[in-house]
Amino acid sequence: MPDFVYHRPESLTEALDLLGRHAGEAKVLAGGQSLLPVMALRLSQPRHVVDLDRVTELAELAPGPSGGVTVGAMVRHADVERSELVARSAPLLARTVKLIGHPAIRNRGTPCGSLAHADPAAELPALALATGAEIVVRSATRERVLTAADFFVSFLTTALEPDEMVVEVRFPAPGPRTGGSVREVSRRHGDFALVGVCCSVTLAEDGTVSGAALAYFGVDSTPVRAEGAERRLVGSVLDAATAAAAAREAAQELEPGDDLHATATYRRHVAEQLTRRALVEAADRAGGAA
Ligand SMILES: Cc1cc2nc3c(=O)[nH]c(=O)nc-3n(C[C@H](O)[C@H](O)[C@H](O)COP(=O)(O)OP(=O)(O)OC[C@H]3O[C@@H](n4cnc5c(N)ncnc54)[C@H](O)[C@@H]3O)c2cc1C
Repeated sequence: MPDFVYHRPESLTEALDLLGRHAGEAKVLAGGQSLLPVMALRLSQPRHVVDLDRVTELAELAPGPSGGVTVGAMVRHADVERSELVARSAPLLARTVKLIGHPAIRNRGTPCGSLAHADPAAELPALALATGAEIVVRSATRERVLTAADFFVSFLTTALEPDEMVVEVRFPAPGPRTGGSVREVSRRHGDFALVGVCCSVTLAEDGTVSGAALAYFGVDSTPVRAEGAERRLVGSVLDAATAAAAAREAAQELEPGDDLHATATYRRHVAEQLTRRALVEAADRAGGAA
């Protein structure tokens, strides 16, 4: 691995100061589950590495300002997976985090690290997009709160400035009569998904759909929504036929590419099947089933 200067700040102020001083040459180290592989492959060669492990103020998993949960930058995937607060207040987050890699990866990796890394095949960026999560970023001199749509710019690229880090992500609580579902297909258990969808459905008092979100991972350079299909669902009764039609429309909106792992045609086909099942499951949950 190329040489670098290793820093282990004890506070957020110290960490932000280091990032500001070495802006453009420093990388934050959270769980190391993505940074260390890319450094080992020489795809990233930071001159300075700022390890957040001792910044305990970033390890807080707490209720969100208006419900839901706030996940600090050093909260691990496994903390989220085991949290009763998350299961209660952000159930789709609880379901999604279980799909990430293997237990060893979830023990070290962090949700904020996953957002900052911005792998388009990762689950949490798509979840952030589907649920309207807020990503809080900070430098030594300013704080910004970004939506996922503004945060994810392109492949492995975010709107973070070189002197900024993600300090927390706020996942909102689902509203009343809202259900969620996450579905994915990967080659082997624990692999990154070939295609996946995070889905949220809200039902009106009369049982028709009043809101829907369909956010995909593994199909583009960033997580993407199928906004046409979402709009079409509003006002409909979400039965099997409606779910099938919406899934077909959503799959047509996606623009997946061919790569070593799967063809675009396969990805689109899988996206359609996953969407159909996710919509039915989310509508069941919105209506009060499990
Ligand atoms: C074998 C394997 C399988 C995996 N499978 C999956 C999977 O199925 N789904 C999935 O989503 N992920 C998967 N991962 C990745 C895993 O979820 C990582 O934990 C995650 O992508 C990055 O989190 P981290 O805390 O390890 O970040 P790190 O590796 O420490 O950092 C990753 C990048 O983000 C930056 N960064 C980290 N935290 C911050 C912050 N707070 N502010 C600004 N920048 C920051 C770093 O500088 C670096 O550029 C897998 C990893 C491995 C090794």
